[in-house]
Amino acid sequence: MRVLIVGGGVLGTMHAWQAVRRGHEVVQVERELEARGASVRNFGLVWVGGRAAGEELDTALRARELWQEIGEQVGGIGFRPNGSLTVVRSEAELAVAKQVAAAADARRRGLVLLGANEVREVNPALAGDSLGALWCQRDAAVEPRLAQPALRQHLAASGRYRFVPGREVRALLSNGVRDDHGEVHEADLVLLCTGAALGGLVREIAGAVPVRRVRLQMMQTVPAEFRLSTSVADGDSFRYYPAYRGAALDELNRVQPQPPVAAEHKMQLLVVQRLDGSLTIGDTHEYEEPYGFDVVEEPYRHLVEVAESILGRPLPAVRRRWAGVYAQCVDTSEVVHRQRVADNAVLITGPGGRGMTCSPAIAERTAEELGL
Ligand SMILES: Cc1cc2nc3c(=O)[nH]c(=O)nc-3n(C[C@H](O)[C@H](O)[C@H](O)COP(=O)(O)OP(=O)(O)OC[C@H]3O[C@@H](n4cnc5c(N)ncnc54)[C@H](O)[C@@H]3O)c2cc1C
Repeated sequence: MRVLIVGGGVLGTMHAWQAVRRGHEVVQVERELEARGASVRNFGLVWVGGRAAGEELDTALRARELWQEIGEQVGGIGFRPNGSLTVVRSEAELAVAKQVAAAADARRRGLVLLGANEVREVNPALAGDSLGALWCQRDAAVEPRLAQPALRQHLAASGRYRFVPGREVRALLSNGVRDDHGEVHEADLVLLCTGAALGGLVREIAGAVPVRRVRLQMMQTVPAEFRLSTSVADGDSFRYYPAYRGAALDELNRVQPQPPVAAEHKMQLLVVQRLDGSLTIGDTHEYEEPYGFDVVEEPYRHLVEVAESILGRPLPAVRRRWAGVYAQCVDTSEVVHRQRVADNAVLITGPGGRGMTCSPAIAERTAEELGL
């Protein structure tokens, strides 16, 4: 079959991976010269621990297996099973960590509660305040800036894959698509993995989809002189992942509301060390459009303060700041929105803040459902 994929982000690339693996001919069309959407702006966290029980956790666990397999074949994506520590710094946060670690599915998630000394054994760079941490051994990381090009290079070696950058798909045809240069790309099946682009072509062929957009602020330091052996989160992250809900979290929210800046910008701290030693740090969440076109400083100051208090040392200088937008299903219990938009075309969008994590398993499921 000739499969045409619209969108050069991780979801499009993982669909290309599945289609090539199953013996099909694949063309992937991207409107920019290189992927520039959520897939290159994210942390690269393959984040399993906090997923909602059921389909979301099943998808994340399957995706974690697939990332590992893909990482073994494509070293350039930088896959590493480094795990994560959610550091707790108050009794109320510790109570949440204890409740989560005692849950029936904690082992499946790879979650273990560590005391303060064990935290330093697992990640010696964490020299700051801590009462302990929730250690997720299943969490992993990849390099978002490197993953797409590395995957494409590997796919191209099959002889059945071609990347067509700098072309915006403007029309869906019964025999493929037409791009903004007027060129027709013939295909038997079109998969639209167009991310947070919900207007234009998507609006014309799919109407209003049950997906909203979310904007985040991020930053990255210069390479650090120390090594972070795990990714790191703060206790505020308990407030954002469904697996942590329960009486202990309700109590945390009651006795320890987020600091005003963190509450206003719906923040948590996440830190991932890149392969070059630099630290990717975030994040904020903005739900109401129109979004600011600029990034604001107050949340960055808060993130630096929290990160330095957990690390017990000054952060390296910040070198890059950016914002990114992802598409998220309005019904957040949906892992992704799949919509048949024509006999020969399916739209796949809305994996939300877990799209990097889940993309290999989402693509595998699409391939199975379509009988590829
Ligand atoms: C700041 C930030 C941090 C995040 N951190 C994480 C994380 O650590 N872990 C995690 O699991 N998830 C994370 N996410 C979510 C994750 O990045 C996204 O869910 C995922 O990247 C979505 O991939 P995508 O391919 O659907 O979208 P995108 O990466 O946005 O790709 C869509 C592509 O389609 C192209 N396109 C659109 N329309 C057309 C057209 N008509 N013709 C041609 N091309 C078109 C766009 O140019 C774009 O390149 C984060 C997101 C953000 C923004």
